[in-house]
Formats: sequence, C-alpha cells, structure tokens
Amino acid sequence: QSLPGDPETSNEVRKVFGACYSFVTPTKPVNPTLIHTSKEVFQNIGLQYTKENKNHFTDLFSGAIILKNTQPYSMCYGGHQFGNWAGQLGDGRAINLFESNGYTVQLKGAGKTPYSRTADGLAVLRSSIREYLCAEAMHHLGVPTTRSLSLISSGNKVLRDVLYNGNPAYEQGAIVARVAPSFIRFGNFEIHASRNDIATLQQLTDYTISHHFPEIYSEGKQKYLDFFQKVVQSTLAMVLHWQRVGFVHGVMNTDNMSIHGITIDYGPYGWLEDFDPDWTPNTTDREYRRYRFGNQPEVALWNLYQLANALYPLLQESDGLQRILEQYPIDFERGYQQMMLRKLGLENTIENEDKFLTELTQNLKVTSTDFTIFFRLLSTIKKEDTSSIALDKISSSFYYPERITEAMKRQWLDWFSVYLNRLQNELLTDEERSKNMNQVNPKYVLRNYMAQLAIEEAEKGNYQLIDELFTLLQKPYDEQPDYERWFTKRPEWAKTKIGCSM
Ligand code: AMP
Ligand code: MG
Ligand code: MG
Repeated sequence: QSLPGDPETSNEVRKVFGACYSFVTPTKPVNPTLIHTSKEVFQNIGLQYTKENKNHFTDLFSGAIILKNTQPYSMCYGGHQFGNWAGQLGDGRAINLFESNGYTVQLKGAGKTPYSRTADGLAVLRSSIREYLCAEAMHHLGVPTTRSLSLISSGNKVLRDVLYNGNPAYEQGAIVARVAPSFIRFGNFEIHASRNDIATLQQLTDYTISHHFPEIYSEGKQKYLDFFQKVVQSTLAMVLHWQRVGFVHGVMNTDNMSIHGITIDYGPYGWLEDFDPDWTPNTTDREYRRYRFGNQPEVALWNLYQLANALYPLLQESDGLQRILEQYPIDFERGYQQMMLRKLGLENTIENEDKFLTELTQNLKVTSTDFTIFFRLLSTIKKEDTSSIALDKISSSFYYPERITEAMKRQWLDWFSVYLNRLQNELLTDEERSKNMNQVNPKYVLRNYMAQLAIEEAEKGNYQLIDELFTLLQKPYDEQPDYERWFTKRPEWAKTKIGCSM
C-alpha cells in the first residue's frame, strides 16, 4: 500500500491535486561545509558518523548527492494560518530524502520545490542554528520533538532583507537535516478534505495508520476514531510539556502540527523568561497574540478541531469525534494540575488547588520572575524554612528586585506560607523532594540570547559556541558546574532582541 504521488517530477512551483507528494531534486549547494552533527541521531537512524565518512555525509545531508535507490520528495499539505484557511502550502523548503530504521530524514533549506510558492526554498544560518539546537534541547528535556541530525553551511547567499539604503542584505545559507517518525501534519489531511478529494484523503489516512500507528487494529469508522484519539492524546501530552518547560512555539498553524504529537518547525519560538502567560516571541503576532504561552493548550484544541473536520468525510458522523474533543479540556485540566504539582514537589492535593496555582502564576507575573530559575531555586526550600527565608531563596529570579513593593512581597509571603504548610504534610524528605523537582524543572534551557550569541559567532565562522550549547543542553536537568554561567537570567542587552523565523 503506497501513497498517490504527483506524476510530474519537476521542481516547478504549482498546485498539486490528487497526490500526497511530489518527487523533487534538491538544489546543489555551492560549498557545503559541515558545522555540527548529532552522533546519537545518526545512530538512531542506523548510521555511524566517523571522520572517514564526514565528506560523504556532508554531501548527502546537504542535497549534493542522492543515494542510489532513493527518491527525494516533498509533501503536499494545506493549513490554517493564524486561524484562516490558507489553501495549498506544502514542503516549500523541506525535502524528504529517505526512510531508515523507522525514521524519515528530511532536509530543510535544500532549495525550491513545487510548494515553494513565491519563496526561495532556502534557509539562513541563523534560523538553522536555532532549529538545530532547540530540537535537540527539547528532546533532552523530555519533550517529544523532531530530532536534529546535522547542520551544514551551504555556501549559498540568501536574501532575507533589504537595508535602509536599498542594498540587499545577503546572509549565509544553511541546511538542517532533521529526523522524525514521519513529517505528516494536520495540514496533509486538511488539503484533501478542503478539495473534497475523499479518495486521496482516505488513502493518506489508511497509509498513515497502517505505517505509523500499527497498534490500531480496529477497522472501518472505528479505525479513524482510534487514530484521531491517538493524535489528540499525543498533542495534549506535547503541549503539557511545553507548558512545563516554558516553551512557546510561536506559529501553531495546523501545517506545523505533527500527527505524532511531536514539536515540529522551530521558527520564531521562544522560552519564557520573566513569566507572562500573554507573551509570544512572534513579532508578527503581537496584535492578537494568538500563539501566546497561555493560549497554547487552547490553540492545540482548535487545531484538533480542524483535523476532526478534515477526517469527518471518512466517518460521515460527528458524535465520535465530538466526544474525543470534549474530553480534551477535562484531560488537560487534570494533566496541568498534576504537572504543576510535580514542578512544585507536592504529592498531596488540596481543595483549593486552582486558587493556589493561580496565585502562584499571578505572583510570578507581577514580580517579573524568571520561570526556569524560580522553579530550580524552589527545590532548595526546606520544610523548616519560614516564608521569608523561602522568599529570599527564590528572590534572585526576579528581574527587577528594585520594583518589588511591600504589597507584592506580602502576596509572595502569603503564598509561601501555604506552600510551606503543605510541605509539612509531604512524606518525602527535603532531599528526596528536591531531587524529584530537579527532574522536571530544568536548570538550562535555550534562552534566546544564548542562541543569539551562538549565531553571532557562527556568522563569523566560529562554531565553538554551537557545540558548547549543544553539549550543555544534553543534560538540562543536571548540575553542570563548568557551565554555571548559563544558569542566569536574560541579560539586559537581550531584552528587545527577538529570534526570527525565516
Ligand atoms: P512556516 O510558517 O515556516 O511553517 O511556513 C509556512 C509555509 O511556507 C510552508 O509551506 C513552508 O514550506 C513555506 N516556506 C517557509 N519559508 C520558505 C522558504 N524560504 N522557501 C519556500 N517555502 C517556504
Ligand atoms: Mg512550517
Ligand atoms: Mg518555518
């Protein structure tokens, strides 16, 4: 059983009907140079990275050569972008090379495809570094994600901006090879449903289930419901992880939602620093803030509704889909509470749990508190501490200590007195609780300024910081005394710098 493909095989931009993918040829890079690889991901796909085959892999994972008996392809998908149906999008700069060991290897930035629309199919070095590092950081944080295999400088000049004086601002091009069980997105289903092409929709869905969800053994309508339920559950689990580590995706369009519930397409993402549920790193979303931190669970559900709509023609009835969707808010509430209690090191719940958690997040926001540092420091609190000792212990996570008023201080002391009271009823020792907390509250995340520093160095040809951050972020929950300098609040100079997506 295979998927219907596009009979045309040129890279020419076009609308593709009745097909799930088009065969394409990657554009040869001018001068591919390997910047970094993940040895672990090489192993996952059954390859061994060594110095001897470095050149071969550089050619292979930059699109300079194509392996015999493989046929690179780009997939056709649509999507809802910022809440609006956008029609055919597709892999405009992504090319799947081959499958190995149950994973698909995909190049990002290897040139135009039939789905490039008006864009160039390329990626710049800065956004490629951001994707390469963040995906691996997320994996080691325990967040489901695509993995990064390699980061290669292409030697191409890429135009993203024009300077005020009218001169073109060329940037270095790069190619990331990334790996996932598949790169199938909600939008892959939506495109066929939107065209009322039920035959292709059904072939895609049947293929997806038989290849990627072998555990589903039901048939007929139940099979599609079971599939949908799995997507709902894994998506929910992914978003809970995002909320746990303070990750903001930034562009949760349905074409950026994987059916495997893995984080995909690292563009204008960001990490919460001074806690604010309304924050989004995406400068193009500053008006409505659709993809703000606190809205991610809601948007994931909205996206799942779009997937449900796309699958509806295969079912011809909505009750089953509806029931699964209605379970999401209930499961989310439960999951969110459990997740927050784990971050707080609490095993017992109280009646007013919502109030307790809301007061915490309000305090975090009002006092501009660093999300990562706060939870890490919280694990140093002992049962015998007083509220004011507890407050002292976490106070270096405030961005503007000079702005802390007496009223804010009182709010915190009140919250800590409840927290400390609760700790008295906990069975674990301070040490045990601290150890558990440090397994869900990372010490190191890829703050925007860290990526920015690595990018600035790399643009000058120095890749050492990429390697340092890559190494650091493999053990985000561990104490790493050599890297203590990365356990720090965002520096003042980085406040207004925002990561870019293109
Ligand atoms: P994104 O917002 O990055 O998820 O991209 C939305 C759509 O635009 C997808 O179909 C991408 O493949 C496409 N796209 C983004 N950047 C480029 C590019 N430089 N060249 C071609 N297509 C692109
Ligand atoms: Mg995308
Ligand atoms: Mg993108």
